[in-house]
Amino acid sequence: MADRYKCVLLFGAPGTGKGTQGKLLGENDGFLHLATGDIFRSLDKQTELGKKFLYYSSRGELVPDDLTIELWQDHVRGLIDAGTYDPKHDILLLDGMPRSLPQAEMLAALIHPLAIIHFTVGDIDEMVKRMKLRAEKEGRHDDADENVIRNRFDVYRNETAPVLGHFDPKLVIEVDAIGTIEEVHERVSAALMPVYEKAFDTT
Ligand code: AMP
Repeated sequence: MADRYKCVLLFGAPGTGKGTQGKLLGENDGFLHLATGDIFRSLDKQTELGKKFLYYSSRGELVPDDLTIELWQDHVRGLIDAGTYDPKHDILLLDGMPRSLPQAEMLAALIHPLAIIHFTVGDIDEMVKRMKLRAEKEGRHDDADENVIRNRFDVYRNETAPVLGHFDPKLVIEVDAIGTIEEVHERVSAALMPVYEKAFDTT
């Protein structure tokens, strides 16, 4: 148990700013931002796995669970071997993982969730607009098409949202994701401060 990776889950619908906030938080010592979507996007598109990622992501669907967990685990081991991540001292900020109940079950033996930051937003149409703008800025193929974006929300509702119920409700911290990047960052930082102190006081 003691060897499981300490982590904070960044949880919420597509476009709620988990990635932006995760990157900012990851600049602090002791935190490492790990976005599964980024791991997938860094794959060589000519490899089998790279092609599979394109196949699923271009439809707004999840890559199959077993492939995803295997890739994620290999990636984390690589970070440890490279000295980028030290499980004894760092907290992983998990962005986009787990994204389905089977993934949550497969990860149970590997991760020790300290908190789950749930980024909440109201209006889906507002989110769709935000994602199209982001797609233009970042050249993301999956968010350029409104039908694909809407499918990503359906997948979130049906496959990802139930993951929240898998964890101890005491771990869940709701954060209002509407506001400027700075405003949301302040809210998330305030929520995480006690989590960080507790994690390292007790070791
Ligand atoms: P994101 O950047 O988090 O929006 O992820 C982009 C795409 O990567 C998703 O639409 C999925 O196709 C794939 N992906 C990211 N995380 C996962 C995951 N945990 N499980 C399966 N597929 C994922």
